[in-house]
Amino acid sequence: MRRIGCHVSIAGGIANAPGRAAELGCEVFQLFTRSPRGGAAPAITPEVIKAFREAMKEHGQKDFYIHTPYYINFASDKKHIREASIRIVREELERGSLIGAKYIMTHLGSAGDSPRPDAMQLVAEGVKEILKGYKGSTELLLEISAGSGNVIGDTFEELAQIIEKSGSRAGVCIDSAHMFASGYDIKTKEGFKKTLKTISDTVGKSTIKLIHANDSKVDLGARRDRHDHIGYGKIGKEGFVHLMEEFKLDFILETEHDKVKEDIITLKQIRSAA
Ligand SMILES: [Zn+2]
Ligand SMILES: [Zn+2]
Repeated sequence: MRRIGCHVSIAGGIANAPGRAAELGCEVFQLFTRSPRGGAAPAITPEVIKAFREAMKEHGQKDFYIHTPYYINFASDKKHIREASIRIVREELERGSLIGAKYIMTHLGSAGDSPRPDAMQLVAEGVKEILKGYKGSTELLLEISAGSGNVIGDTFEELAQIIEKSGSRAGVCIDSAHMFASGYDIKTKEGFKKTLKTISDTVGKSTIKLIHANDSKVDLGARRDRHDHIGYGKIGKEGFVHLMEEFKLDFILETEHDKVKEDIITLKQIRSAA
């Protein structure tokens, strides 16, 4: 499809998001349905659903995605944190199904001081538990991380293992800034070819369902999550040309809103040329 959009705020209620997206030039967009930093989720009542659907129509938006909160950690050594993470991601799937989200994407968390194999096991069990008996229409994506500290899911090998071990059909959301920081080159032609080969050998290209399009303030392999505007960072426009040529998927920007409109225009230009 290769529609282009960005993450938008739900200030004042989720029904305000489609209008904000349209105003920025989005063809598709992403939101949080609850505060990403904590607190109770606002109820999705029949009135909210109706208002949201009407706003989608009014502003010509067909699809959107949901990002889960930042505090999700399936790898925590604290049981209550793991359980809350599982419950909240399941809730987001159910909430997403109510309002018609196509996918939700989640980070997996950090192993902290635990041995990595133990943490991987916990994450796989968590993913399995989230999807147990789930009958909704919104699908779950695991997002590749930038690999700082002991964060899980910074390699395609780990993501493939988690999907396999969980016996789930979770997909993958790639984030250009995260994968670049994790050491996957997308900037150079040869590097990108190698990265694609790794993807084919691990999760498989068809498992990738969505692209987070962010340039990176940090270098290849720097293992830090710092988004930059498209063409202003270490990846550069050429990296996004590679991604656009290869992936016929939606591209969602998560850059600061001071220049996100410009980023949307830049990606549309790259798409026209691709
Ligand atoms: Zn993310
Ligand atoms: Zn990020």
